[in-house]
Amino acid sequence: MSFSATETASPLLRATGLAAGYGLLQVLWDVDIEIGQGECVILLGANGAGKTTLLKALLGLVALWHGSIEFKGRSLAGQRTDQRVRQGIAYMSEIGIFPNLSIDENLSLGGYHLPKRDVRTRASQLYAMFPDLEQRRGALAASLSGGQRKMLSLAKAFMGGPQLLIMDEPSAGLSPRYVKEVIATLRQLREGGLSMLIAEQNLGFLDLAGRVCVLDSGRMSFSGGRDALEHDDILRRSYFGLDGEDDGRTD
Ligand code: ATP
Repeated sequence: MSFSATETASPLLRATGLAAGYGLLQVLWDVDIEIGQGECVILLGANGAGKTTLLKALLGLVALWHGSIEFKGRSLAGQRTDQRVRQGIAYMSEIGIFPNLSIDENLSLGGYHLPKRDVRTRASQLYAMFPDLEQRRGALAASLSGGQRKMLSLAKAFMGGPQLLIMDEPSAGLSPRYVKEVIATLRQLREGGLSMLIAEQNLGFLDLAGRVCVLDSGRMSFSGGRDALEHDDILRRSYFGLDGEDDGRTD
């Protein structure tokens, strides 16, 4: 089975034969994944399948045991996470938010490697996309609601002008209203040409997907268009326990 973005175009990210784990526990087994330019890939899998481990391995937050990762055709071997971020990979996680800093300060940190003028320009573009944040730009991040914090982590990840945005369960802890908002924002970013890899169990995110990949006990077991997955009842049941009615969609 092929896990490639397209057979011909050179992918933005190509990972081959990844193996990784913790101590004696091997979590990823010979995982291949590619993300094309402007492509949105949704990574599905049951709890504990290894989704977070895979995302962290791509960022260099978890060490590889075997395998290789190329970004824009160049190997990421030996590169620290901050070097990967400078090359255009962003990771959206709530851990990256500093609660005791203001929204403005958090955003500035997201663009720490950019010239000051670019930070200001980029921040005003992002405030236009996230009006809730602009209204409270001087407030501490600790004072934001869960949904607003998610928006801040997305805006912060986007400050550095990434080409590839990697997200781990952006819907976690959000009300359906905010899930809808996050999906709408991501749709806007995708239309602007951003490539994305999103680990999610909320099937509402499938609407964003150009392609879906499924991790099964640390092995990549499926890669294909979302239609194939939507019509594959065996996959739906085995990964989500769904009967076709309650699939987590928000609309
Ligand atoms: P979920 O959807 O529940 O977040 P996941 O697909 O993201 O799951 P991972 O978080 O990658 O799965 O976990 C894969 C396996 O690795 C699990 O068995 C988990 O217990 C184990 N694991 C994850 N992080 C660590 C760690 N820091 N140390 C030891 N084992 C870990």
